[in-house]
Amino acid sequence: MSNHHDVLLVGGGGAGLRAAIEIAETNSHLSIAVVSKVYPMRSHTVSAEGGAAGVIRDDDSLDEHAYDTISGGDWLCDQDSVEMFVEEAPRELLRLEHSGCPWSREPDGQIAVRAFGGMKNKRTWFAADKTGFHMLHTLFQTSLKYKSVVRYDEWFVTKLLVDDGRVYGVVAIELMSGRIEAITAGAVILCTGGCGRVFPFTTNANIKNGDGMSLAYRAGAPLADMEFIQYHPTGLPFTGILITEATRAEGGYLINKNGDRYLQDYGLGKPEPKPVLRSMELGPRDRLSQAFVKEVEKGHAVDTDFGPVVHLDLRHLGEELINRKLPFVRELCLKYENIDPVTELIPVRPVVHYMMGGVHTDMNGATSLAGLYAAGEVACVSINGANRLGSNSLSEILVFGARAGRAAAEYASSHTDTSTAVLAQAADERNRLQQRFTRKRSGERIADLRDEMQKTMEQSAGIYRSGESLSQAADTLHELQDRFASVTIEDDSRTFNTERISALELAYMLDVAETIVNSALRREESRGAHQRTDFPARDDKRYLAHTLIHREPDGSCRVEYLPVTITRWPPAERIYGT
Ligand SMILES: Cc1cc2nc3c(=O)[nH]c(=O)nc-3n(C[C@H](O)[C@H](O)[C@H](O)COP(=O)(O)OP(=O)(O)OC[C@H]3O[C@@H](n4cnc5c(N)ncnc54)[C@H](O)[C@@H]3O)c2cc1C
Repeated sequence: MSNHHDVLLVGGGGAGLRAAIEIAETNSHLSIAVVSKVYPMRSHTVSAEGGAAGVIRDDDSLDEHAYDTISGGDWLCDQDSVEMFVEEAPRELLRLEHSGCPWSREPDGQIAVRAFGGMKNKRTWFAADKTGFHMLHTLFQTSLKYKSVVRYDEWFVTKLLVDDGRVYGVVAIELMSGRIEAITAGAVILCTGGCGRVFPFTTNANIKNGDGMSLAYRAGAPLADMEFIQYHPTGLPFTGILITEATRAEGGYLINKNGDRYLQDYGLGKPEPKPVLRSMELGPRDRLSQAFVKEVEKGHAVDTDFGPVVHLDLRHLGEELINRKLPFVRELCLKYENIDPVTELIPVRPVVHYMMGGVHTDMNGATSLAGLYAAGEVACVSINGANRLGSNSLSEILVFGARAGRAAAEYASSHTDTSTAVLAQAADERNRLQQRFTRKRSGERIADLRDEMQKTMEQSAGIYRSGESLSQAADTLHELQDRFASVTIEDDSRTFNTERISALELAYMLDVAETIVNSALRREESRGAHQRTDFPARDDKRYLAHTLIHREPDGSCRVEYLPVTITRWPPAERIYGT
């Protein structure tokens, strides 16, 4: 295997594989590397349940999809990106259909679509409640067709190689052998997904540590809108396993300990027996998660060993519908809670789910560093603004995976020179990893630092925040960064040294946590998923702008603001439930 490729993708999830396919189809002469710390089918995309948004029915329109997305994002989305996204999403979903994705269908053979939170029309395509699994399978199998795609499965990227403002590749560890190699490339696309593990209670897989965000940040590319963390309103207590929004789209109710459909008290409409779009249980995720906190404050939640919960009631949907449309939900409830949703209430509480922010990119995935692109959850384009609507992300990874693939292919075709300086950098990185992360030492334990970071994030950067708690958190995270310098690595083996990988992931998460807290501290307003108790109103005069956070050479953060692109929808009040 030659260690030089035209385009190198860090990540083999939905965005990475879509980009790989696009590059292979754009130019069959380009060599494409897919570097992934897990086997591609284990990427987090596989666990997506509910579906992918794209206008397909005659009673829907691209403008309505755009408006739902923009109002759902509390006017922080770049509207030119959203307009392009809603136009390309249906084409991408159809393309997957042609590659074999088994979308669920209506009895007459039409693609079936379901309602999703904050959406005015039914436009969420699904494959029962295992949508991500089927999408990723389709992409993975399609990628196998192309000989130009070379996979580095179970290789962990530790550094971007940068010379004179341009990216020339990565350094990565082969997990099986412990070998540390430079893999050079004409262009690199980060497709590393999100960072939910910065928090203690999340739907995100253990591998979601914000690796790509930290890699870009350390290399000099700014991150955007990091303060916007999405809590999904319905996670199972203790495990944080997601109970998909599709349960509410099919007609599930959220009830408090008195049996009341409490969302009616939070400006989300009136309870109806059947689901009403953009209303009650089909309101946006930020509003539903905030309502939960208020219910807890009123004493209306149910206390459990794992904290307060409310109940999701699916009993009235009946066994036949649950088995047909929500089989995975039933399986998860039975396996992890010993509860059968056909006859019992499901305990749920908000859980960290998704990062609206990420590596700042343009519509083609280009970052501020030449040769570096980003797509998928790691990137902030931005189509999700201050609050993503459910089912937009699976379409986003396709649309922007493809666009970044095309742009990177073009860049790599016209920039074929190499840099010798990066080989010296790679040697330095090998030494750093060997000295720093493989010797036995005494000092701080990885698990202790991680627990403290997660606790700090939950307490200060959760559904509601305040300036005081955020500035305390910034100090604590700074101390944790210092303490990380003396972290212990007891395992000295080369083969599958998971302790060393955990330490590297913790380093990524500490960077990401600092950018979240520092971005949140400076945004003195409440918008979407960023709710400040000390600044409860939205402030368009000061903050109709993206936060860009840069890393200074001394490790501190610098924040600046970039205006939001408005095309056709001037900022307005967000209204649901009518
Ligand atoms: C439980 C769950 C359900 C969801 N349901 C939906 C849904 O129904 N609809 C919807 O629109 N969205 C949903 N989402 C969100 C959506 O699934 C994700 O945002 C999306 O799949 C992310 O895809 P990705 O390709 O960007 O990243 P991922 O699929 O997370 O892939 C990341 C890749 O990067 C690789 N990687 C990371 N770090 C490194 C490193 N250091 N070195 C090498 N490789 C690395 C990993 O190995 C992996 O291959 C859900 C998310 C979760 C957690």
